[in-house]
Amino acid sequence: MHRLTLAQIARGLAAKDFSAVELTEALLTRIGALDPQLNSFITVTTDQARAQAQAADARRAAGESGALLGAPIAHKDLFCTKGVRTSCASKILDNFVAPYDATVVEKLAAAGCVSLGKLNMDEFAMGSGSESSHYGPVRNPWNLECVPGGSSGGSAAAVAARLIPAATGTDTGGSIRQPAALTNLTGIKPTYGRVSRWGMIAYASSLDQGGPLARSAEDCALLLGAMAGFDPKDSTCVDQPVDDYLAALNRPLAGLRIGLPREYFGAGLDPRLSDAVMACVEELKKLGATIKEIGLPNMQHAIPAYYVIAPAEASSNLSRFDGVRFGYRCENPQNLEDLYKRSRGEGFGAEVKRRIMVGTYALSAGYYDAYYLKAQKIRRLIRSDFIAAFQEVDLILGPTTPNPAWKLGEKSSDPVAAYLEDIYTITANLAGIPGLSMPAGFVDGLPVGVQLLAPYFQEGRLLNVAHQYQQATDWHQRAPEGF
Ligand code: GLN
Repeated sequence: MHRLTLAQIARGLAAKDFSAVELTEALLTRIGALDPQLNSFITVTTDQARAQAQAADARRAAGESGALLGAPIAHKDLFCTKGVRTSCASKILDNFVAPYDATVVEKLAAAGCVSLGKLNMDEFAMGSGSESSHYGPVRNPWNLECVPGGSSGGSAAAVAARLIPAATGTDTGGSIRQPAALTNLTGIKPTYGRVSRWGMIAYASSLDQGGPLARSAEDCALLLGAMAGFDPKDSTCVDQPVDDYLAALNRPLAGLRIGLPREYFGAGLDPRLSDAVMACVEELKKLGATIKEIGLPNMQHAIPAYYVIAPAEASSNLSRFDGVRFGYRCENPQNLEDLYKRSRGEGFGAEVKRRIMVGTYALSAGYYDAYYLKAQKIRRLIRSDFIAAFQEVDLILGPTTPNPAWKLGEKSSDPVAAYLEDIYTITANLAGIPGLSMPAGFVDGLPVGVQLLAPYFQEGRLLNVAHQYQQATDWHQRAPEGF
């Protein structure tokens, strides 16, 4: 049963081949047996999963027929879940039990999804390898010595290892697309404002978006359809109807204009990944797409701009973790300042502290204009590059990452080396446009992802192209050995 996709599960449940309870039990057993190798879960919510599965079976028995009714998933541990620890993989929130559900959690529960637990990640979603978790690093099921990507690495590892068919993630600079690429999954970062951020613990509020990671574009379409939509509780959530993503999947690709940004294929890209991407381009041509070279001239400034803006917002967002209202508090504080200093000093990990310091510096008087304001101007230029490019093409295609998964620990002494892995993904967050990563081959037994970028609110187009590609190829169906 663990091999089934969400779409297959929907058919199986509808045909009464198995019940949601049976499926949930099978996956709980699998998580218990296999997750010790991966460390993809922080919390397994066994009792809640059983109760939700029973409720889903009861709703089906009463005549309901939603595609996600009884579908097992799990949430990245930065979505607040009522009555369940929501840690953000940080010591500072190790004891935090959320008093409410995030909108995404609520929407998926209403659709009938069964949540099996909370997934490991980089602390506060800061990272690209899921190595900075307070609960220990996550491992890649394709090679247990390698990282699964990050920050949604627990989501990626769990889905790739067939512990769950799909999961939620969040993407501030690539954290859905990059782990999807490194573990042979499909993941979509929606347009900024498409999915509610309410109850999603903030990293960089102007960049964060929630989205699904799954084993096919079809499954992403199913989940995104249930996650997206206006939420009055999030002032940046856009009040615009949600497209029918499933209906969009089967549109033919004839006449589709795809742009290949020359900046995406320059130095820094592993030539073997470049070959895989070009093979994908050939396949899309066969499906009717036309290809054009385009330019995104300001891309070279994206990493420096992102690594000013994201830490600046993080330094502000994370000031709420002060040892007073919730989360970790140091022992025997001597006075208020000591309480703040030691609670934060002991509660946050090294990478989070680094970002808070960088961000505080970039926002401080005298430096604001030189760093933060400058970065915001670059952000605007990057957005303009995309808007200009989309005058010429319908979609932009390139590699998701410059390299396949790296060995655990390999980049931990050099944070900038890890930041550079985000080169192809962060521009979409800076511009707010949607992006998807899909499986497109292997290098040394490690998955390669292709990234598709589209104009605002064209998630349906991204899912459509990925689905058509997945009808013609079988990369996405390959499973890691031993799982
Ligand atoms: N790797 C990027 C960072 O560390 C992106 C993380 C994310 O998307 N949450 O900021």
